[in-house]
Amino acid sequence: MIRVTEVRLDPAAERLVLEVLRSGRLAQGPMVARFEDAFRVVSGTAHAVAVNNGTTALVAALEAIGIGPDDEVVTSPFTFVATINAVLQRGARVRFADIRPDDFTLDPAAVRETVTPRTRALMPVHLYGHPADMVAFDRMAEELDLALVEDAAQAHGASVDGRPVGSFGVGCFSFYATKNLMTGEGGMVTTDDDAVADRLALLRNQGMRERYVYELAGHNYRMTEVEAAIGVAEVAQLEIRTKRRRANALALSEMLAGIEGLDTPVERPGHHHVYHQYTVRVNDVAPLGRDDVVTALAARGVESGVYYPRLAYDYACYRDNPAVRIDPMPEAERAARQVVSLPVHPWLSDSDLEQVATAVRQVLS
Ligand SMILES: *Cc1c(COP(=O)(O)O)cnc(C)c1O
Repeated sequence: MIRVTEVRLDPAAERLVLEVLRSGRLAQGPMVARFEDAFRVVSGTAHAVAVNNGTTALVAALEAIGIGPDDEVVTSPFTFVATINAVLQRGARVRFADIRPDDFTLDPAAVRETVTPRTRALMPVHLYGHPADMVAFDRMAEELDLALVEDAAQAHGASVDGRPVGSFGVGCFSFYATKNLMTGEGGMVTTDDDAVADRLALLRNQGMRERYVYELAGHNYRMTEVEAAIGVAEVAQLEIRTKRRRANALALSEMLAGIEGLDTPVERPGHHHVYHQYTVRVNDVAPLGRDDVVTALAARGVESGVYYPRLAYDYACYRDNPAVRIDPMPEAERAARQVVSLPVHPWLSDSDLEQVATAVRQVLS
């Protein structure tokens, strides 16, 4: 079976983890600082503050910019559920705007119509590794005096017009076990704003400035040294692995061109896609539905994934939550019905790619 995700750690991780284990220092320390330094190059920001996971990164970012009860955050309904949960954890309200059908990211025009006087922040998601329209959101945030938080959990190293994601607003990254850059569990918040970075550093460590001097009621959001050691090894591999993902995506798109019923992924001009997922649409003229495609591909030895089969709010636990405002989302709903992600990870061989493309062609013919 060709897997949709395959994880291979760089051998340098073993040496660095061993170094940490032998040092006896396991909680946040010099290795975390080293990882932060290396990650600042990826995000192109003055600051990178490591935290214990990507959800925490979002929560901490929202808290650091002062989002709390009664504030409204506008985001995408077509995302991982953590995006919503982070807003709710702050006691804030979440509203949704529809996505663009070509790149699956938040539609700036729809966002503008969704903003109310209560809106305090925009939170675009760089879904599948394709950056959201950050030029538009940057301008909109400025014009409407709103904060900008980027859910960059799937988009390490993506950029718009050469500017890395995570440098437009407060950037929130995840290093969960299957992301393009991973440490098992882990997260990073990136910013150019000294005051926000200072607050983040306090929030993650009980609000402590110096030993037993507390400036605010904080949390324990700290990353471990073992996680950071994996991060230091893996971040050095990000560029080469992203290149492989992009080359695999290009090869797949060439081989899958012209299949009726199938739409291959789009990379918008100026937008650098890092292909966390290679996501196609099984559109309405396809001879079989998306779920049947998944089954038929599996029978041909090709694993695929559906991210996401339902909109993030479309679960009973959000239905009666007054903090979750649900409006019709026709594009996001259509995407949830049609998308399927094919293997694109860096460890695919040419023959794997051919097998994937052949299977898709057979299934849809
Ligand atoms: C993975 C992910 C998160 C959450 O990250 P964790 O590290 O799993 O907490 C948030 N948003 C999106 C879009 C993600 O893919």
